[in-house]
Amino acid sequence: MNKTWKKAWHEFRYMISEIDGRDNPIIIFQRIRGWYQKNKIFLSPHLIEEYGLEKLINIDIKAYPLDKSESTPQNIRRFLNLEPSSEESMIMFLRDELWELVVLKVDIKCQRCGKLEMSALFDTEAKKVVLECTQCGWSQTTDGYPDKSVKTLKFAQNDDLKIAGLVEIKSYTFSLQRYLTTSCCVSTPLVGVRCLDGQLLERLRLRAWFLHSISNYPFLLNNTLRSELFFKAKTEFVGYPTNLVIIVTKSLMFPASNSTLY
Ligand SMILES: [Zn+2]
Repeated sequence: MNKTWKKAWHEFRYMISEIDGRDNPIIIFQRIRGWYQKNKIFLSPHLIEEYGLEKLINIDIKAYPLDKSESTPQNIRRFLNLEPSSEESMIMFLRDELWELVVLKVDIKCQRCGKLEMSALFDTEAKKVVLECTQCGWSQTTDGYPDKSVKTLKFAQNDDLKIAGLVEIKSYTFSLQRYLTTSCCVSTPLVGVRCLDGQLLERLRLRAWFLHSISNYPFLLNNTLRSELFFKAKTEFVGYPTNLVIIVTKSLMFPASNSTLY
């Protein structure tokens, strides 16, 4: 039996005791990762594998919603009073804490047990976010329908969560010329567009570029309504339901007269 895990646990508690009361979830995660890299040699490889520790610890921090985790220095200090009875229970504690940091929890009601807390995960087959109850394990779609399909789940990334509307889309102004270079003729001095953050935009761009249409203002209302219809009907374009419409309009530089473009 592997007894060296006790050394790893001792180091873990020391690392926890060093966490500052003001450390945010990203710093907490980095500290746990630092501890893990030094101490994994003391842990049993089959338990690391069974509890999926490597997948949790080796994430790209920027791509996951760690900044929205409810994990705090205060609640992580509970480990200081815990004495795991075996290596497996220690690894379970660790897995649960990493899960707490990496997986977004949302205040959406479970349709089965009524608990107001669900984990947002990503269904790799349906390519969309699904919600799993933290209490009873029930799975439902973000629209609240039961989801009983057999699926392979992974941790949902920020981009997935934004597309599912579970986290706020950061809005800012970026250079329009850089993005509208495809079939569009941008001859008027459009100055910018409030849009998604760059990373998500890059990902959406390939899907969205062909939908770019430059049109005259008389059609603005018509096209806005049509876009809403696509959104509500989840109309698919190249295999993806419509989740987002970007409408670029002029920024008060010229009046939006009928003959100009948007
Ligand atoms: Zn439930």
